[in-house]
Amino acid sequence: MSVEGKTAVVTGAATGIGRATAELLAERGARVVAVGLQPEHLQETVAGIVSSGGAAIAVDADLSDTRAAGMVAAATREAFGGADVLVNNAAIYPIGPWHEANAAEWDAVFATNVRAYFLLAQALRPQMIERGGGSIVNVASVTFFWGEVELLSYVASKGAVVGFTRSLAREAGPEGIRVNAVAPGAFPTAATAIHADQDKLWRDVLAAQSIKRRGEVSDVARAIAFFAGDDSRFVTGQTLLVDGGWMRN
Ligand code: NAD
Repeated sequence: MSVEGKTAVVTGAATGIGRATAELLAERGARVVAVGLQPEHLQETVAGIVSSGGAAIAVDADLSDTRAAGMVAAATREAFGGADVLVNNAAIYPIGPWHEANAAEWDAVFATNVRAYFLLAQALRPQMIERGGGSIVNVASVTFFWGEVELLSYVASKGAVVGFTRSLAREAGPEGIRVNAVAPGAFPTAATAIHADQDKLWRDVLAAQSIKRRGEVSDVARAIAFFAGDDSRFVTGQTLLVDGGWMRN
C-alpha cells in the first residue's frame, strides 16, 4: 500500500471527511495524528483506529490559533518521529447573505481555512525533509469553481487553497514535498447540513451529477489517499474534483 508505514497528520479528523480519511489511511497502514476540535469525537476517531489494530493519537487543537501548528509538529515528532503526510482538511463555513458578513467572520474563516494550512505545512516541513520528502493534500471545494451564494468568505477561502496548492507545489517540489488538493462536491456531513432544505439540496445535486448516487465521505478519502501516498509520486500542484461529475460543464 502506498501509505504503509507513513505518518499522516489529518486535520478536522473528528468528523466527516477528515475522520473518513484518518480511518482509510490507518487501514492502509499509516500512523495517524488526528488533529482538531470536538475532542470527544476526535477520541472516537482514534479509538476506532486503535481497536482495528492501527496506530493513532489525538491532538486537540484549535488551528485558528497560530501556536497550534508548532504543538501539532511537536506531538507528531514525539509520538511517531515525524510526519510524511499532511492532510489540511479542517474548515468552517459560515452561511448567510454577503451584506450581513463582517470582518471578524472573514478573519475567522481565513485563519482556519487558509492560514492554518500554511502554518501546518511550514511547521511540518523540517520533518518531511528529514524523512526524505512528503506529501501535502489540501481540501478545497467545487464551490470555488462556480461561486456558491451565501458562502462568500468560505468560497473565497477555498479559492485561496487552490492558489496555495499551486504555488507551494512549485516552491516545495525541489525539497521533495508534493502538494495537491481535492475539491469535493457534496457529501453528507455537517458542512451540507447547514442547508435549510435538504431534500432540495440532494435532488439538485443528484440531477447535476453524472454519477447518480449521493457521495460518501470515503469517496473523498480515497482521492486524498491517492495524493498522500506513492501512487501519485510524480503528481504535484493539482486540484482533483471529487464530485461525481457535478462540474462536468
Ligand atoms: P465537518 O464540519 O464535519 O468537518 C470540518 C472539521 O474541521 C470538523 O471536524 C471541525 O471540528 C474541524 N474544525 C473546524 N474549525 C477548526 C479549528 N479552528 N481547529 C481545528 N479543527 C477545526 O465537514 P466536512 O464536510 O467533513 O468538511 C471537511 C472539509 O471538506 C472542509 O475543508 C470542507 O470545506 C470540505 N468540503 C466539504 C464538502 C461537503 O459536501 N461535505 C464539500 C466541499 C468541501
